[in-house]
Amino acid sequence: MNTTPAARAIPFFNYRGAFSSMEEELVTIFRDVLTRGAFIQQKDLVDFEANLARYLGVRHAIGVGNATDGLVMAFRAAGIRAGDEVIFPSHTMVASPAAAAHCGGIPVPVDCGPDHLIDPAAVERAVTPRTRFILPVHLNGRSCDMDAISAIADRFKLTIVEDAAQALGARFRGRLAGTWGVAAAYSFYPAKTLGCLGDGGAVVTNDDAVADQIRMLRDHGRDAAGDVQMWGFNSRLDNLQAAILDHQLRSYDAAVSHRRNIAAIYQAELAGVAALHLPPVPDADHFDIFQNYEVEADRRDDLRAFLQSLSIGTVIQWGGKAVHQHGGLGLTASLPATDRLFARCLMLPMNVMVTEDDARYIAARIREFYQS
Ligand SMILES: *Cc1c(COP(=O)(O)O)cnc(C)c1O
Repeated sequence: MNTTPAARAIPFFNYRGAFSSMEEELVTIFRDVLTRGAFIQQKDLVDFEANLARYLGVRHAIGVGNATDGLVMAFRAAGIRAGDEVIFPSHTMVASPAAAAHCGGIPVPVDCGPDHLIDPAAVERAVTPRTRFILPVHLNGRSCDMDAISAIADRFKLTIVEDAAQALGARFRGRLAGTWGVAAAYSFYPAKTLGCLGDGGAVVTNDDAVADQIRMLRDHGRDAAGDVQMWGFNSRLDNLQAAILDHQLRSYDAAVSHRRNIAAIYQAELAGVAALHLPPVPDADHFDIFQNYEVEADRRDDLRAFLQSLSIGTVIQWGGKAVHQHGGLGLTASLPATDRLFARCLMLPMNVMVTEDDARYIAARIREFYQS
């Protein structure tokens, strides 16, 4: 407590570090894949898909170009029709509702709760006779209350497609985020908890027919024999990225555990700061993987500028706007809880390159800010 840790620059995410920390291993993987000339839909993709499916305990994991495409294909495979309303939390990346819109769906934004996740009561209020899907987003590495969401889906006969882009390995009441709905998409964008060196994603499902559809959709509508069965996309996970991901998956649990340690340090060191509302602490119902550490802060913009002056990077998620606040999208919902949140939310550095000492240093600077 009395010791002042030495000053240091802490970027929000160190993109170059993502490569250099694993340079030797990565070069070995590049050489191996490149000398085999194995670029598209080869063994490394098949292996990664099998290992990811095993990790998640699902029947099918299908590598795709990115999570956004994954959601589009999941909606298609789940039988979305033009005019179907899709309920989603406005505190998400625009990619989630965009996927529904590209399938002719009507995205219906709803508010989030104090945990920054979709509010089940708001979902229930938004149901109309045209509602067909709920798109919960397991934001920041914490699972939504999937018992409540599933109960609403059962009652109104709605289909759940999960945006699990930020939640690989998160659990609610012991069950993994991404395994509740008909299908879920994960993202391997570099800054995600399991990140590749470019774009990548996966769709998972336990439904054989849905899996068959997605395997065809991602590859020009072609079946295993190469016959075109439908209009498809080109959205395959590159074999080289799959090889990198397969390698990283082996140490993924250690990466998650590091993030949980960093979160525990922020929690312990910032709990006494009345000007902050900290993210929920993992409890008996939640195993959180801390994709992000998103706080609510009084004088948020001043705090952010102060940290920036010390070369500590922070980010306001989604460029500072919830989806319904983007006027160009024509969404007219009034979402007071989300509006309040976006005036206060801020993400602190949270990734495997942030050390425990860094986290203590950042917390000490934040305490200083509010004491002065
Ligand atoms: C990153 C992200 C996406 C999009 O993932 P891509 O792989 O970049 O398409 C979608 N939803 C959420 C919540 C995300 O964080």
